[in-house]
Amino acid sequence: MDIETPKDALNREVGLKRPSRAEAEAAIRTLIRWAGDDPAREGLQDTPARVARAYEEFFRGYAEDPEDILTRTFEEIEGYDEMIVLRDIRLESHCEHHMVPIVGVAHVGYLPDKRVVGISKLARVVDAYAKRLQIQEKLTAQIANTINDVLQPRGVAVVIEAGHECMSTRGVHKTGVAMVTSRMLGAFRDNPSTRREFLAMISNRRSVTVET
Ligand SMILES: [Zn+2]
Repeated sequence: MDIETPKDALNREVGLKRPSRAEAEAAIRTLIRWAGDDPAREGLQDTPARVARAYEEFFRGYAEDPEDILTRTFEEIEGYDEMIVLRDIRLESHCEHHMVPIVGVAHVGYLPDKRVVGISKLARVVDAYAKRLQIQEKLTAQIANTINDVLQPRGVAVVIEAGHECMSTRGVHKTGVAMVTSRMLGAFRDNPSTRREFLAMISNRRSVTVET
């Protein structure tokens, strides 16, 4: 079953059609042959269907609207105006250059201005952008910009630490390397003590292993 995502609807309008499931599976059989194996042998017969289903999970972010996730907010917060930080959010993405995993953690903080959002929503925004073809820099900026645009808080901070399989399993073959990206907006950008407080909150923790 092919589900139309918002991106599909957009593509349909400009005349681009999403390939069918059968076309996707045929493409995977081509890649198996390209790798040097026989897609008809027993162990590989169901692989194209499994890969297509895995792609639905890896890239389900295209079917989600990150702004929509943040629209339900709470305003009865008894004047709470301190930093809210969700740290060590498991992050699984795929690099758009090699289509291999990027695995790590994201830390998201914001300074609310009269309204807050359920904390699970912050993790869902991370996923909505992570479950797409990405580069870590863009992913970091998209998460921060969306929270900033929708919640209009006094500031947003996003830090991502992740390992890239395109670096550990191919190319330079360097393992245990974490790439760290950050995007600071509003008070986190303008006020050094706010930024320091956030960085202290995310570094004062059990050590996190970034596995690739
Ligand atoms: Zn890559």
